Amino acid sequence: MIRLENIHKSYKTESTSLHVLKGITTEIKTGEMVSIMGSSGSGKSTLLNILGILDNYDQGSYYLNDILVQKMSEKKAAWFRNNYLGFVFQSFNLISYKNALENVALPLYYQKVGRRKRNQIAMEYLEKVGLTEWAQHLPSELSGGQKQRIAIARALISKPKVIFADEPTGALDTQTSFEVMQLLKTVNQEGITLVIVTHENDIAAMTDRVIRLRDGLIINE
Ligand code: ADP
Ligand code: MG
Repeated sequence: MIRLENIHKSYKTESTSLHVLKGITTEIKTGEMVSIMGSSGSGKSTLLNILGILDNYDQGSYYLNDILVQKMSEKKAAWFRNNYLGFVFQSFNLISYKNALENVALPLYYQKVGRRKRNQIAMEYLEKVGLTEWAQHLPSELSGGQKQRIAIARALISKPKVIFADEPTGALDTQTSFEVMQLLKTVNQEGITLVIVTHENDIAAMTDRVIRLRDGLIINE
C-alpha cells in the first residue's frame, strides 16, 4: 500500500538547511498497524506529513497504492486526502463551536452531503466510538479521551483506506491512552491500515511493527 524509496527532506530558510530525512526506505502493507518511533525532533511528524500528502519531499519516491506521489497537483492531493486518507492528531483538531455530532459530520459537509443524511451517518459513527449520548456536547464539555474518539469517528466517516495518527495519545493519561489504542486496534481489525507516530514504548508495543527513526534514518523495523 505504501512504498518509500530513499526519501530525503530538508527544511530550508534563506541561510540554513536542516536535513531531517536522510534516505528513508520502507514498505507498509495493506491491513498493517505500524508505529513510527524516535526521539523528539527525529523526523516522525515530517515523515507522517509526507505519507499523508500534507507536505512534499525533496528526493526519492513515494508510492501510494502504486501511484507515485510526487509534486502532485493540489486537486489530486486533496482527492487522496478526502477519499483515501484519514488523520488523527495529538491535539484532536476539533472545531470548538461545533458539537460532537457536527464535528464527526464535517467531512460529509465538505462532500456536500445534505444535513439530515450527514447527521444520520455521523450518529452511526458516534455509536461506533461509544459516544451517542454526547452528540450535542461541545468539545469543551468532553474529556481528552472523548475528544480523541470524536476525532477518530471524524476520520472514519469518509471511509479511508489508511489512517495516520500523530501522537494520538500524547495528551492523554495512561488508562485513556490504552482505551484509545484499543479503539484504533478495532479500526485496524476492520481492515483499515494504521500508521501511528509515538514516542511511548507501551503504545508502540500495541502495534504489529515498529519503525524506529534516528538521525533521519530507519535504524530497525
Ligand atoms: P518529531 O515529530 O520526531 O518530533 P519533526 O518531524 O516534527 O520531529 O521535526 C524534525 C526536525 O525538523 C526538528 O528539528 C524540527 O525542529 C524541524 N522542523 C519540523 N518542521 C519544520 C518546519 N516546518 N520548518 C522548519 N523546521 C522544521
Ligand atoms: Mg512530532
